[in-house]
Amino acid sequence: MATQTQDDVDDVVPGREWSSELYRIANDQFDRASALLELDPEFVTRLGEPRRSLVVNFPVRLDSGRVLGLTGYRVQHTLTMGPTKGGFRYGPDVSLGECAALAMWMTWKCALLGLPYGGAKGGVRCTPSELSVPELERLTRRYAAELIPVIGPDRDIPAPDMATSEREMAWFMDTYSQMMGHSVFEIVTGKPVVLGGTAGRREATGLGVVYVTEAVCERIGLDLREARVAIQGFGNVGAVAAGELYAIGTRVIAVSDHTAGLVDADGLDVAALARWTAEHGMLAGYPDAKQVGPMDVLEVPCEIVIPAARERQITDENAPRLQCQLVVEAANGPTTPEAEAILHERGILVVPDVLANAGGVTVSYFEWVQDHQRYSWDELDVQERLRRQLRAAFARVTDAADRYGCDWRMAALSVAIERVSEAARMRGIYP
Ligand code: NAD
Repeated sequence: MATQTQDDVDDVVPGREWSSELYRIANDQFDRASALLELDPEFVTRLGEPRRSLVVNFPVRLDSGRVLGLTGYRVQHTLTMGPTKGGFRYGPDVSLGECAALAMWMTWKCALLGLPYGGAKGGVRCTPSELSVPELERLTRRYAAELIPVIGPDRDIPAPDMATSEREMAWFMDTYSQMMGHSVFEIVTGKPVVLGGTAGRREATGLGVVYVTEAVCERIGLDLREARVAIQGFGNVGAVAAGELYAIGTRVIAVSDHTAGLVDADGLDVAALARWTAEHGMLAGYPDAKQVGPMDVLEVPCEIVIPAARERQITDENAPRLQCQLVVEAANGPTTPEAEAILHERGILVVPDVLANAGGVTVSYFEWVQDHQRYSWDELDVQERLRRQLRAAFARVTDAADRYGCDWRMAALSVAIERVSEAARMRGIYP
């Protein structure tokens, strides 16, 4: 175990517990939007930092019998709007600061979409690819048990994120239910349909990316069916977005995952790619396209780039080389503020994450409503409501952009911050 030195102790500046590169980006965006709104300093104080953070350390027994010590997090950004909502992820870089930034973005996303939630995010620092399925199950169940003091169907409702999916949600729901003594389906969203999940949740984020892209293309006069699209990330979000674009006849000319990038200027056969990844677990080795590096797909000449992998992929290093008209942020925080300034200068439009990937939390909300009602909607109903809700949110963004003369990210954050600060003002401060 690492020993703490005096230098490490001196590094912990009071009030900077969440400090991380991603939190710097979230904070920078919040500061700029607050300045645009001339936000009362009271609300800068009340919304600028997360309200609650839980850090847990727990042991997990590996199949070998050895015990692994792990750290997990859950951050709740604001408690003003109702229960908190946000996914949990597994990865080697997961940290308190990363969760804090993602929780803040969840607040803005929910407020922009008009959902009755504050933002939250969680995760466990681990390397999921090195863990067996039984090890992942023990990890998930223990993490769920550790979160009991802060979660609940009307307190904080987790969902899938990077490296977590329906399977983890089922384990999480079962663990919570065992502890309560009865089935509590509404404790998580993104569950399998047979356990109270909703039709259309698995596809929701990727499909939402396509609905938002359609609305944006209509606005800027770009024919989506004629456009060429490059997508970084071929997981829950990227693969579904690619499949949907392919289904409507758009040319998906480049995709990548962490193992490889694939390019075909005539358009990739996305259905064949999905079969390949289902069989091989990765894109690498796919024989019918030119193979490039995972990052290279961001720079291929096309109309639309969709980063759908992870944060901080478009930076001041590669932003000057992007050759597209539009960046649609399917991932959370894929563009650094420095890169965004370069894209802005170059006339490349950015559709911000809080709008572009909001389909996931919107359908999660639909799932939670159905769980509470004990009544299921069909897939078409879910998709129609999702499309309507995302288009209405985009209209709010373009209205605000016209009102404030700003870009779409600042417009989206302004709509959200206005809504949350108004609610905070009306609730007042206890006591
Ligand atoms: P996932 O784990 O299912 O997929 C991530 C994909 O990115 C994988 O294909 C992985 O191989 C790839 N990848 C990782 N590093 C890469 C790199 N350097 N270059 C190219 N590809 C790389 O995760 P996901 O659920 O699809 O989430 C992707 C992003 O979308 C994350 O930022 C997540 O926070 C965000 N998001 C997800 C949801 C959701 O419902 N799953 C909702 C909103 C936002």
